[in-house]
Amino acid sequence: MRKFFTSLSIVLFGMNALAQTQQPKLIVGIVVDQMRPDYLTRFAHHYGEGGFQRLLSDGTWCKNVHYNYVPTYTGPGHASIYSGTTPRYHGIIANDWYVRALDETVYCAQDDTFSTVGSDTKNGQMAPTRLLATTITDQLRMVTQFEGKVVGVALKDRGSILPAGHNPNGAYWYDKSTGDFITSTYYTEALPQWAQTFNAKKYADQYLSENWELRDPLKTYTASEADDQPYESGPDNDAPAVFPYDFVKLQNGKKEYSILPYTPNGNKITTDFALAAIEGEQLGKDNVMDFLALSYSSTDYIGHAYGPESKEIEDCYARLDDELARLFAQLDEKVGAGNYLVFLTADHAGAEPVGYMKKHKMPAGFFSYKAIQQTLEEKLDARYGEADWILNALNFQVFVNHEACEAQEVGFEEVTETVAELLLEVDGIARTSTREQMLEQSIEPGEFQRMKLGFNQKRSGDVLFVADPGWMKALRYATTHGTSYAYDTHVPLLWYGTGIKAQTVYTGYEITDIVYTLSMLLDIPLPNAAIGQPILKLLED
Ligand code: ZN
Ligand code: ZN
Repeated sequence: MRKFFTSLSIVLFGMNALAQTQQPKLIVGIVVDQMRPDYLTRFAHHYGEGGFQRLLSDGTWCKNVHYNYVPTYTGPGHASIYSGTTPRYHGIIANDWYVRALDETVYCAQDDTFSTVGSDTKNGQMAPTRLLATTITDQLRMVTQFEGKVVGVALKDRGSILPAGHNPNGAYWYDKSTGDFITSTYYTEALPQWAQTFNAKKYADQYLSENWELRDPLKTYTASEADDQPYESGPDNDAPAVFPYDFVKLQNGKKEYSILPYTPNGNKITTDFALAAIEGEQLGKDNVMDFLALSYSSTDYIGHAYGPESKEIEDCYARLDDELARLFAQLDEKVGAGNYLVFLTADHAGAEPVGYMKKHKMPAGFFSYKAIQQTLEEKLDARYGEADWILNALNFQVFVNHEACEAQEVGFEEVTETVAELLLEVDGIARTSTREQMLEQSIEPGEFQRMKLGFNQKRSGDVLFVADPGWMKALRYATTHGTSYAYDTHVPLLWYGTGIKAQTVYTGYEITDIVYTLSMLLDIPLPNAAIGQPILKLLED
């Protein structure tokens, strides 16, 4: 009998231990906006033990993860990571897109029926209304009978709202006009006390009074080109984009909170707010799984302004490493080492600046949507007669005017085919497809598949185009992202914590596989339009 009890208790203890190792108390999803995988190795000499290095040496590093649709922008990226599906299904086809019925451009997270909570500005008139599919965070809420808490945090509203899903305990973002973190009446009527206390401390004021200087000695910045390059664009357009950046001088006596996202301190205030949320919402405290959906946005602002080869981006990542170390140290203390599960990825990667590529004899160039629209209007006028043929050209898409086709008695399909043909005459446009082709049933792997998975029948345009590699829309800053080429689609994916072992995975996976894996790992039902597959090496013993 005694022996039986002993073995039973071993079994029970064993099961308990198993349950504990499989179920984290807190999932921390980290999106690093515009992070490229080469930053993990190129900038490694700046990294300490506690940040990226901790994930790399003790966690699973998936080296071959790509976006599987176009366009590779922030809104679609965050929506796809968390819904495990693509714009074709979740409907977030871009950051801003043209709505034919309204004849206007809408923003992915905007909803004017709600108002700002936490400031008097309009920056909180937001909601996940346009996100058509559920997220893993929605599914966690439902499977725990809404006891598992979900909180979204980012500087960018869309970086917080789309990951946090439709029914989180809170989604918070940075108000560029006030320097405070705000939310929307979609979620709540008043900021929780902990968030009010946070805002009262005015971190933004403190961070804007600090200059941005290199964290480490200049001679250690060996993974970037010389500081001053003609294609860089600092916060002051008239001054050269070089260190040190004096924000007090830049603000010229008045508070310019919109500068903060363009500095590494934007990531710092994000960590500050995330830690306040963990404490304030008691995330990871009880045995019901919680989810912190965190997105670091300053990496994207700095990436756009200076580009992936800049001193600024090298320093930005050196300092982000400090933020990750601070976050993980706090999670160890508050939630307990081994009790939380982290994944870290990006919403898209990013291209080298055109100027940089040309300087080094690499193929690259600019196209202009305005020029495209103008050329098409002229050529269509000449062919079919005077009319407003093109409603809009944006996001690698052209919207054709149905009314113009009717007025000139030309078939809509004929006009779209003509547009597809004419677009090829524009420098830097490599391939075109029509709406008709997007609606063909078969989905073959490759570029056409990525276009189809990004195409939403009700929201997308009539003619789609692909630029040549290295080509991008004309910019007033260093660089951008958005294409289906590797420099935009290839992103890091790191896993760390509860049940995750140290390994490197070379098998190719897609961005939609992250929540598929989480679902299988943690028995959270799949988001309702998920199309991925699990990363098997994370599930196998
Ligand atoms: Zn982004
Ligand atoms: Zn961006």
